[in-house]
Amino acid sequence: MTDHATSAEPTATGADATPMVLAESVSKSFGSNEVLKDISLEVKRGEVLCLVGPSGSGKSTFLRCINHLERVSSGRLSVDGQLVGYRDGGEKIYEMHPKDAAKQRRDIGMVFQRFNLFPHMTALENVMEAPVQVKGVSKAQAKARAHELLARVGLAERADYYPAHLSGGQQQRVAIARALAMDPKLMLFDEPTSALDPELVGEVLDVMKNLAASGMTMIVVTHEMGFAREVADTLVFMDGGVVVETGDPREVLANPQRERTRAFLSKVL
Ligand code: ADP
Ligand code: MG
Repeated sequence: MTDHATSAEPTATGADATPMVLAESVSKSFGSNEVLKDISLEVKRGEVLCLVGPSGSGKSTFLRCINHLERVSSGRLSVDGQLVGYRDGGEKIYEMHPKDAAKQRRDIGMVFQRFNLFPHMTALENVMEAPVQVKGVSKAQAKARAHELLARVGLAERADYYPAHLSGGQQQRVAIARALAMDPKLMLFDEPTSALDPELVGEVLDVMKNLAASGMTMIVVTHEMGFAREVADTLVFMDGGVVVETGDPREVLANPQRERTRAFLSKVL
Protein backbone atom coordinates (compact mmCIF):
# COMPACT_ATOMS: atom_id res chain seq x y z
CA MET A 1 0.00 0.00 0.00
CA THR A 2 1.50 3.30 -0.95
CA ASP A 3 -1.37 5.80 -0.68
CA HIS A 4 -0.67 6.64 2.96
CA ALA A 5 2.95 7.44 2.11
CA THR A 6 1.90 10.88 0.90
CA SER A 7 1.93 12.19 4.47
CA ALA A 8 5.68 11.47 4.53
CA GLU A 9 6.40 13.93 1.76
CA PRO A 10 8.56 16.85 2.86
CA THR A 11 6.77 20.10 3.55
CA ALA A 12 8.08 23.44 2.31
CA THR A 13 10.24 23.63 5.43
CA GLY A 14 11.51 20.09 4.93
CA ALA A 15 10.71 19.32 8.57
CA ASP A 16 8.68 16.23 7.73
CA ALA A 17 11.64 14.63 6.01
CA THR A 18 13.06 13.82 9.45
CA PRO A 19 12.61 10.10 9.97
CA MET A 20 10.31 9.09 12.81
CA VAL A 21 12.82 6.49 13.95
CA LEU A 22 16.49 6.40 13.05
CA ALA A 23 18.74 3.66 14.39
CA GLU A 24 22.40 3.99 13.57
CA SER A 25 24.58 0.98 14.46
CA VAL A 26 22.47 0.26 17.51
CA SER A 27 23.64 -2.56 19.76
CA LYS A 28 22.15 -3.72 23.02
CA SER A 29 23.59 -6.16 25.54
CA PHE A 30 22.22 -7.68 28.68
CA GLY A 31 25.42 -8.52 30.54
CA SER A 32 27.51 -10.47 28.08
CA ASN A 33 24.49 -11.33 25.92
CA GLU A 34 24.47 -9.03 22.89
CA VAL A 35 20.86 -9.21 21.70
CA LEU A 36 20.97 -6.36 19.16
CA LYS A 37 24.02 -6.13 16.94
CA ASP A 38 24.74 -3.10 14.83
CA ILE A 39 21.15 -2.39 13.81
CA SER A 40 20.75 0.44 11.32
CA LEU A 41 17.30 1.25 10.04
CA GLU A 42 14.97 4.10 9.37
CA VAL A 43 11.22 4.49 9.67
CA LYS A 44 9.87 7.41 7.69
CA ARG A 45 6.78 9.38 8.65
CA GLY A 46 3.62 7.63 7.57
CA GLU A 47 5.53 4.44 6.94
CA VAL A 48 4.57 0.98 8.17
CA LEU A 49 7.53 -1.23 8.95
CA CYS A 50 6.96 -4.90 9.74
CA LEU A 51 9.62 -6.53 11.85
CA VAL A 52 9.71 -10.30 11.60
CA GLY A 53 12.02 -13.00 12.84
CA PRO A 54 12.27 -16.00 15.14
CA SER A 55 11.68 -15.78 18.86
CA GLY A 56 14.68 -14.36 20.71
CA SER A 57 15.98 -12.37 17.75
CA GLY A 58 15.68 -9.04 19.59
CA LYS A 59 12.44 -7.62 18.12
CA SER A 60 10.83 -6.70 21.44
CA THR A 61 14.09 -5.29 22.75
CA PHE A 62 14.33 -3.02 19.72
CA LEU A 63 10.79 -1.71 20.31
CA ARG A 64 11.59 -1.24 24.00
CA CYS A 65 14.63 0.88 23.11
CA ILE A 66 12.43 3.11 20.93
CA ASN A 67 9.90 3.42 23.73
CA HIS A 68 12.54 4.37 26.34
CA LEU A 69 12.12 1.11 28.26
CA GLU A 70 15.71 0.04 27.48
CA ARG A 71 18.87 1.98 26.72
CA VAL A 72 21.04 1.23 23.74
CA SER A 73 24.53 -0.04 24.66
CA SER A 74 26.14 1.32 21.53
CA GLY A 75 25.19 3.43 18.55
CA ARG A 76 22.68 6.25 18.09
CA LEU A 77 18.92 6.08 18.34
CA SER A 78 16.70 9.03 17.41
CA VAL A 79 12.93 9.35 17.54
CA ASP A 80 11.21 12.16 15.65
CA GLY A 81 14.51 13.94 15.10
CA GLN A 82 15.43 13.90 18.79
CA LEU A 83 18.44 11.92 19.93
CA VAL A 84 17.29 9.41 22.56
CA GLY A 85 20.65 7.84 23.30
CA TYR A 86 24.15 7.76 21.93
CA ARG A 87 26.71 5.36 23.33
CA ASP A 88 30.01 4.08 22.16
CA GLY A 89 31.04 0.65 23.43
CA GLY A 90 28.83 1.09 26.49
CA GLU A 91 30.16 4.55 27.27
CA LYS A 92 27.53 7.25 27.45
CA ILE A 93 27.98 10.12 25.02
CA TYR A 94 24.44 11.46 25.17
CA GLU A 95 21.21 10.52 26.84
CA MET A 96 17.89 12.32 26.61
CA HIS A 97 16.83 13.99 29.85
CA PRO A 98 14.33 11.78 31.72
CA LYS A 99 11.72 14.55 31.56
CA ASP A 100 12.03 14.74 27.78
CA ALA A 101 11.98 10.96 27.57
CA ALA A 102 8.77 10.83 29.62
CA LYS A 103 7.26 13.50 27.38
CA GLN A 104 8.19 11.61 24.25
CA ARG A 105 6.82 8.33 25.64
CA ARG A 106 3.38 9.93 25.83
CA ASP A 107 3.52 10.38 22.06
CA ILE A 108 4.35 6.74 21.40
CA GLY A 109 1.53 4.22 21.54
CA MET A 110 2.31 0.61 22.30
CA VAL A 111 0.15 -2.47 21.92
CA PHE A 112 1.35 -5.77 23.34
CA GLN A 113 0.54 -9.41 22.78
CA ARG A 114 -1.49 -9.47 26.00
CA PHE A 115 -4.17 -6.86 26.06
CA ASN A 116 -3.52 -5.66 29.64
CA LEU A 117 -6.61 -3.52 29.91
CA PHE A 118 -7.57 -2.37 33.40
CA PRO A 119 -9.97 -5.17 34.43
CA HIS A 120 -12.02 -3.00 36.80
CA MET A 121 -12.79 -0.41 34.13
CA THR A 122 -15.20 -0.54 31.19
CA ALA A 123 -13.92 -0.27 27.63
CA LEU A 124 -14.85 3.42 27.67
CA GLU A 125 -13.10 4.07 30.99
CA ASN A 126 -10.00 2.26 29.75
CA VAL A 127 -9.82 4.55 26.72
CA MET A 128 -10.51 7.70 28.79
CA GLU A 129 -7.97 6.95 31.52
CA ALA A 130 -4.65 8.22 30.13
CA PRO A 131 -5.91 11.44 28.54
CA VAL A 132 -7.58 12.39 31.85
CA GLN A 133 -4.80 11.22 34.20
CA VAL A 134 -1.72 12.03 32.12
CA LYS A 135 -2.79 14.87 29.87
CA GLY A 136 -5.32 16.57 32.12
CA VAL A 137 -8.05 16.44 29.47
CA SER A 138 -11.53 17.11 30.91
CA LYS A 139 -13.65 14.02 31.55
CA ALA A 140 -16.36 15.20 29.18
CA GLN A 141 -13.87 15.74 26.38
CA ALA A 142 -12.09 12.44 27.02
CA LYS A 143 -15.42 10.63 27.05
CA ALA A 144 -16.53 12.08 23.72
CA ARG A 145 -13.19 11.17 22.16
CA ALA A 146 -13.27 7.66 23.67
CA HIS A 147 -16.70 7.06 22.10
CA GLU A 148 -15.29 8.20 18.77
CA LEU A 149 -12.28 5.91 19.05
CA LEU A 150 -14.34 2.90 20.11
CA ALA A 151 -16.53 3.49 17.06
CA ARG A 152 -13.42 3.66 14.91
CA VAL A 153 -12.32 0.19 16.10
CA GLY A 154 -15.86 -1.15 15.60
CA LEU A 155 -16.83 -1.28 19.27
CA ALA A 156 -19.37 1.54 19.62
CA GLU A 157 -21.84 -0.95 21.10
CA ARG A 158 -19.38 -2.30 23.67
CA ALA A 159 -18.39 0.94 25.43
CA ASP A 160 -19.86 -0.12 28.78
CA TYR A 161 -18.52 -3.69 28.78
CA TYR A 162 -15.79 -4.81 31.15
CA PRO A 163 -12.77 -6.58 29.61
CA ALA A 164 -13.83 -9.94 31.04
CA HIS A 165 -16.99 -9.74 28.93
CA LEU A 166 -15.15 -8.98 25.70
CA SER A 167 -13.45 -11.44 23.36
CA GLY A 168 -9.68 -11.32 22.97
CA GLY A 169 -10.06 -9.57 19.63
CA GLN A 170 -12.40 -6.97 21.12
CA GLN A 171 -10.03 -6.43 24.06
CA GLN A 172 -7.14 -5.89 21.68
CA ARG A 173 -9.18 -3.38 19.69
CA VAL A 174 -9.92 -1.51 22.94
CA ALA A 175 -6.17 -1.56 23.64
CA ILE A 176 -5.57 0.05 20.23
CA ALA A 177 -8.26 2.69 20.91
CA ARG A 178 -6.67 3.33 24.29
CA ALA A 179 -3.26 3.92 22.70
CA LEU A 180 -4.81 6.21 20.05
CA ALA A 181 -6.50 8.30 22.75
CA MET A 182 -3.10 9.85 23.51
CA ASP A 183 -2.79 11.05 19.88
CA PRO A 184 0.47 9.19 19.29
CA LYS A 185 2.82 10.10 16.48
CA LEU A 186 4.15 6.55 16.39
CA MET A 187 2.50 3.23 17.14
CA LEU A 188 4.48 0.16 18.17
CA PHE A 189 2.78 -3.23 17.96
CA ASP A 190 4.49 -6.22 19.56
CA GLU A 191 2.85 -9.39 18.20
CA PRO A 192 -0.62 -7.92 18.71
CA THR A 193 -2.43 -10.98 17.36
CA SER A 194 -0.21 -13.79 18.64
CA ALA A 195 -2.35 -14.50 21.71
CA LEU A 196 -5.65 -14.50 19.80
CA ASP A 197 -7.74 -17.40 18.62
CA PRO A 198 -7.30 -17.61 14.84
CA GLU A 199 -10.84 -16.47 14.07
CA LEU A 200 -10.24 -13.20 15.98
CA VAL A 201 -6.99 -12.22 14.25
CA GLY A 202 -8.63 -10.66 11.20
CA GLU A 203 -10.69 -8.05 13.06
CA VAL A 204 -7.57 -6.73 14.81
CA LEU A 205 -5.52 -6.69 11.60
CA ASP A 206 -8.38 -4.81 9.88
CA VAL A 207 -8.22 -2.08 12.51
CA MET A 208 -4.45 -1.86 12.05
CA LYS A 209 -4.87 -1.75 8.29
CA ASN A 210 -7.25 1.22 8.60
CA LEU A 211 -4.84 2.93 10.94
CA ALA A 212 -2.04 2.51 8.41
CA ALA A 213 -4.26 3.89 5.66
CA SER A 214 -4.94 6.96 7.82
CA GLY A 215 -1.22 7.75 7.69
CA MET A 216 -0.08 6.54 11.12
CA THR A 217 3.60 5.67 11.41
CA MET A 218 3.78 2.09 12.67
CA ILE A 219 6.30 -0.56 13.58
CA VAL A 220 4.62 -3.94 13.73
CA VAL A 221 6.28 -7.09 15.04
CA THR A 222 4.20 -9.87 13.58
CA HIS A 223 4.16 -13.33 12.06
CA GLU A 224 1.20 -12.36 9.87
CA MET A 225 2.89 -12.31 6.48
CA GLY A 226 -0.35 -11.53 4.64
CA PHE A 227 -0.62 -8.32 6.65
CA ALA A 228 3.04 -7.52 6.00
CA ARG A 229 2.63 -8.08 2.28
CA GLU A 230 -0.48 -5.97 2.02
CA VAL A 231 0.19 -3.15 4.47
CA ALA A 232 3.91 -2.75 5.13
CA ASP A 233 6.11 -0.38 3.18
CA THR A 234 9.19 -2.14 4.48
CA LEU A 235 9.82 -5.62 5.81
CA VAL A 236 12.78 -6.20 8.10
CA PHE A 237 13.84 -9.75 8.85
CA MET A 238 15.88 -10.09 12.04
CA ASP A 239 17.66 -13.15 13.38
CA GLY A 240 20.11 -13.43 16.25
CA GLY A 241 20.08 -9.66 16.85
CA VAL A 242 21.05 -8.68 13.32
CA VAL A 243 19.05 -7.37 10.38
CA VAL A 244 19.42 -10.19 7.89
CA GLU A 245 17.34 -8.75 5.10
CA THR A 246 15.20 -5.72 4.47
CA GLY A 247 13.15 -4.45 1.57
CA ASP A 248 9.76 -4.18 -0.06
CA PRO A 249 7.67 -6.91 1.61
CA ARG A 250 6.34 -8.24 -1.68
CA GLU A 251 9.88 -8.70 -2.99
CA VAL A 252 11.34 -10.13 0.21
CA LEU A 253 8.46 -12.59 0.60
CA ALA A 254 8.43 -13.65 -3.04
CA ASN A 255 12.16 -13.78 -3.46
CA PRO A 256 14.14 -13.86 -0.21
CA GLN A 257 17.83 -13.33 -0.87
CA ARG A 258 19.23 -15.01 2.22
CA GLU A 259 19.04 -18.61 3.30
CA ARG A 260 18.05 -17.65 6.87
CA THR A 261 15.12 -15.61 5.56
CA ARG A 262 13.99 -18.49 3.35
CA ALA A 263 14.21 -20.96 6.27
CA PHE A 264 12.12 -18.67 8.50
CA LEU A 265 9.51 -17.93 5.85
CA SER A 266 9.08 -21.59 5.03
CA LYS A 267 7.94 -22.07 8.65
CA VAL A 268 5.50 -19.17 8.90
CA LEU A 269 4.01 -18.93 5.41
P1 ADP B 1 12.04 -11.36 20.44
O1 ADP B 1 11.06 -10.28 20.78
O2 ADP B 1 12.55 -11.29 19.03
O3 ADP B 1 11.51 -12.72 20.74
P2 ADP B 1 13.54 -10.31 22.69
O4 ADP B 1 13.92 -8.93 22.34
O5 ADP B 1 12.41 -10.50 23.62
O6 ADP B 1 13.34 -11.16 21.35
O7 ADP B 1 14.78 -11.05 23.34
C1 ADP B 1 16.06 -11.12 22.73
C2 ADP B 1 17.04 -11.71 23.72
O8 ADP B 1 17.24 -10.78 24.78
C3 ADP B 1 16.58 -13.00 24.35
O9 ADP B 1 17.70 -13.85 24.43
C4 ADP B 1 16.13 -12.57 25.72
O10 ADP B 1 16.32 -13.61 26.66
C5 ADP B 1 17.05 -11.40 26.03
N1 ADP B 1 16.45 -10.41 26.94
C6 ADP B 1 15.37 -9.64 26.66
N2 ADP B 1 15.10 -8.81 27.70
C7 ADP B 1 16.04 -9.07 28.65
C8 ADP B 1 16.30 -8.54 29.97
N3 ADP B 1 15.55 -7.56 30.48
N4 ADP B 1 17.35 -9.03 30.64
C9 ADP B 1 18.12 -10.01 30.11
N5 ADP B 1 17.93 -10.55 28.89
C10 ADP B 1 16.91 -10.09 28.16
MG1 MG C 1 9.12 -10.42 21.44
